[in-house]
Amino acid sequence: MTRTLWVLGNWKQNHLPEAAAACARQIADDLPDALRGTSATVGDIRVGIAPPYLSLAATRPFVRPHAMLWLLAQDCGAQDAGAFTGEVGPNMIAAAGAEAAIIGHSERRALFGDTDRLVQAKLRAALAGGLTAVLCVGEALEVRQAGAHEAHVVAQLDAALAGLGPEAANARLVVAYEPVWAIGTGHTATPEQAAAMHRRIRAWLTERFGSAGTDRSILYGGSVKADNAQALVAAGDIDGFLVGGASLEPASFLAIVARAAAHVGT
Ligand code: PEP
Repeated sequence: MTRTLWVLGNWKQNHLPEAAAACARQIADDLPDALRGTSATVGDIRVGIAPPYLSLAATRPFVRPHAMLWLLAQDCGAQDAGAFTGEVGPNMIAAAGAEAAIIGHSERRALFGDTDRLVQAKLRAALAGGLTAVLCVGEALEVRQAGAHEAHVVAQLDAALAGLGPEAANARLVVAYEPVWAIGTGHTATPEQAAAMHRRIRAWLTERFGSAGTDRSILYGGSVKADNAQALVAAGDIDGFLVGGASLEPASFLAIVARAAAHVGT
């Protein structure tokens, strides 16, 4: 089967509304050029940007008219409304124009106390609120050095997706494998390391959700750049990328999109 390729840019805590709007406009304007010469169509590839909450509304006018372009939030509160100071829930994310949310990013887990239990609650809230959930999993360096990386990622999947049936996950769940040691470090996983973990995640998803699991896209994230994107996307079971640093500039982000799109139909 052919799964949808995703190339998603996580802007983290960067780009105030004006700068975010300028980047979004340039991405929207230059996307056709990035796809020129490839056979990629709307059904094959989705390109998304995740600005800070504050900048979602400013980017929406440039993203929305494009069927191929998606707007994502970088997180999602576990409740829709109430006495939860500082939180932004799924209904607010949807109202700001985003159709998806990143859940369980390693920076949220490591720096802001997002436990497995909270990640599960956020993921459920996002799905229940009609958003696509991009669930991030990945191991720290010491876990990989101890040879426990697959068990660690499986435990994260078990925890985040506990109790969810295929109907909940179907079509609106994307998994991103992001080894913590590769995020923002310039040390990308080798295509072999990434592909091995993606095969493990695929086996878990298929065992758990049947054909709905086989259909889910699994993205790789961690120091992806145009010059390593091609080998990664060709490695098998890697259905695109979650990109941090290289997504901040439209040109470097679109160069990755071009490499992923070139893989469509190969
Ligand atoms: C990320 O933060 O999700 C990420 C993959 O960052 P970078 O591409 O900068 O490693």
